[in-house]
Amino acid sequence: MSGITKKIVRTAEACGASAISRTLHADQLLIVMYHGILPERRTWDHWCQIPSDEFRWQIEYLKRHYDVLPLSEIITRRIAGQPLPPKCAAITFDDGLRNNFEVAFPILRELNVPATMYLATGYIDTDALLWQDRLFAEIQSFDSMELDLSSHNLGSHEWANTASQQQVFDTLLARLKQLPVEHKNRILADICRQTRNAGLQNPTGHDFQLMSWDNASEMLDSGLIEIGPHTVNHELLSRLDDDQIHSEIADSHAAVLENLGTSSPTFAFPNGTRADYDQRVFAALKECGIPAAVTTVSGLNQTSQSILELKRVGIGSDTERWQFRAEVSGMMDCLRRLRSPNGETTDVNGPLTKDFPANAADSSTEPTPQLATTKASLPS
Ligand SMILES: [Zn+2]
Repeated sequence: MSGITKKIVRTAEACGASAISRTLHADQLLIVMYHGILPERRTWDHWCQIPSDEFRWQIEYLKRHYDVLPLSEIITRRIAGQPLPPKCAAITFDDGLRNNFEVAFPILRELNVPATMYLATGYIDTDALLWQDRLFAEIQSFDSMELDLSSHNLGSHEWANTASQQQVFDTLLARLKQLPVEHKNRILADICRQTRNAGLQNPTGHDFQLMSWDNASEMLDSGLIEIGPHTVNHELLSRLDDDQIHSEIADSHAAVLENLGTSSPTFAFPNGTRADYDQRVFAALKECGIPAAVTTVSGLNQTSQSILELKRVGIGSDTERWQFRAEVSGMMDCLRRLRSPNGETTDVNGPLTKDFPANAADSSTEPTPQLATTKASLPS
């Protein structure tokens, strides 16, 4: 968003535009997407990690203005053809970071607000970080450094300040996401080797550690938190072959069931843009008996939205409070659609290639269930 657009939207929001937008979009389902919640601000910034004071304010706001329901209840109502209440919302967390248990859960429990957490099950009960977070932790650990990746045809990457450090992370993450898994893993191992040789201290590692099954079980017992699968290895599904897609979905679903005895009827696609899932992924979900899935495509869900491709509103470390109000109300979604009718994808870690047909996932030969919301009390 340009500076001038930001100023206009901010002024409109201050004049009550988000409240109007909230009412106008009351028949659309809001699903909010979080990743990590930090106990306090850190010296480093990662879009996916939000300080707890902002998170608490956001949850209080949602509780005040929305009917926040467990996502499983929303899906069950949908499948049964029952309407949703107006201004209906659900809260989700991707990945299964330990701070979801240590920081977010106590706030959710205190405020009595339900949420769904999606686990990359291969990392649960291990010290390993998701590969994307490992890359961040390695780069973040040095104020200045040069990584020589020329043997992988990726050139060399140097940083000497925070801005260039962020740029190197963004560039390498975008490149690695495009590569086959084995190739990506080789490069990541080489990056780790170079940082180890330079004396890595890994100061950001703790904040990216994943939760244990005991953590997940304790949250589940509260009756407020649902747990769902988010693959085993957190790979981008559309880059995998058919067998790998099936095992990433089936094995993560089985791990949740085996360790917790129950699983959310929803799945979260890693990375979650339209380029990251396809018909093979839908087929695997169907085989596993999972009826619904959430994406990172930004927006509210109209009544016609397939429950296999639910949109979400992603909240990050740079989301200011006025922006949060504007985002969840659907106001920002409207602006984006006005500016780019087909360009509504959002990626939590920066832009991906847009070479996947925007409507490819809509071409299912089998109709998928759609959302139903009540329009009583709403303007038409
Ligand atoms: Zn994820």
